[in-house]
Amino acid sequence: MEKLGVALVGLGKYSEEQLAPALLKTTKCSLTGIVTGNTGKAAEWEKKYDIPAKNIYSYENFDSIKDNPDLDIIYIVLPNSMHAEYTIRAAKAGKHVICEKPMANTVEECDAMIAACRDAGKMLSIGYRLHFEPYNIEMMRLGREKAFGPIKKIIAVHGLANTEGWRLDKTLAGGGPLMDVGIYCVQACIYTTGMQPVAVRAQEGKKTDPEKFNTIEESMQFQLEFPGELIAECSCTYSKKENFFRADAEYGWFELSPAYAFSGIKGRTSEAEMRLPQVVQQALQMDGFAAAIINKIADRVPGEMGRKYVKILQAIYMAMETGQRIDIS
Ligand code: NAD
Repeated sequence: MEKLGVALVGLGKYSEEQLAPALLKTTKCSLTGIVTGNTGKAAEWEKKYDIPAKNIYSYENFDSIKDNPDLDIIYIVLPNSMHAEYTIRAAKAGKHVICEKPMANTVEECDAMIAACRDAGKMLSIGYRLHFEPYNIEMMRLGREKAFGPIKKIIAVHGLANTEGWRLDKTLAGGGPLMDVGIYCVQACIYTTGMQPVAVRAQEGKKTDPEKFNTIEESMQFQLEFPGELIAECSCTYSKKENFFRADAEYGWFELSPAYAFSGIKGRTSEAEMRLPQVVQQALQMDGFAAAIINKIADRVPGEMGRKYVKILQAIYMAMETGQRIDIS
């Protein structure tokens, strides 16, 4: 069976270190094109991944991708504020789209992206790799099947150190660690419980470097309130590495540490160590989307899901800024 062609837009760290290597492991799609503003990188990738010169685009001539039958899926891997523009341009060029997380900086942008793909009759997926990762999938099962009874308490933390570049600029990133890593905590709480939060509260952490973090929060704590009086205690930061998820249920507990990493995820429950396969998450994610296109079935991580998370992130920022409990209706 012929594979669907994928073009990566933006050849930064994530494309270079994770997506391009994963595309060598996919079975239903492969890397057939690139979009970059850097001619040196274009030449390097042309050679390394054997990409035909006619499938290499700049940001300026990107729209002419519509005439290229080698490219079925356009994968947007740019700073967050550019996701909406490039997703919409890709849809208008008649291509299916995968957009990296967070889907966009605002719900309004998400709506425009969903509408552009719907109007073009194309599918829109978000780069939620953990929905394809066995340990996280096991957390979904344990939580939703109430394997240890109803969940009573959740702790979810995610932090990175040494952040630099566009991630420190609110205009490009939409916010700080909440947009980049806190989003994983929000997702894990939702997919483990199988429920949507009804309200949020949030508190900004004290800045240790106000100059570096002058437009964004350096760290934040937030609480997601779920139906049934369940509160998830979450935190995210750019000042230290941390990566953990734990659910305490009525008769036991289950946790992942690290929980959201590209590889090496480990899990245990109050009864046993989890022993599940390590996978190339991005390869499964991209093949999952390709299979949805080929078989004309629903995608596991569609644009509507991305919009739902952006709406919650916006409510968390509002809670942080106002000090109020914000309802999510
Ligand atoms: P990066 O800084 O390494 O790469 C960004 C790319 O965008 C570069 O190729 C850069 O040249 C290009 N670019 C174009 N215009 C730019 C501008 N005005 N300013 C800055 N860069 C510009 O970033 P990254 O880590 O590759 O992240 C890219 C996207 O991927 C982000 O949305 C990020 O959230 C997402 N991401 C997702 C995961 C995941 O696990 N799903 C992991 C890392 C990054």
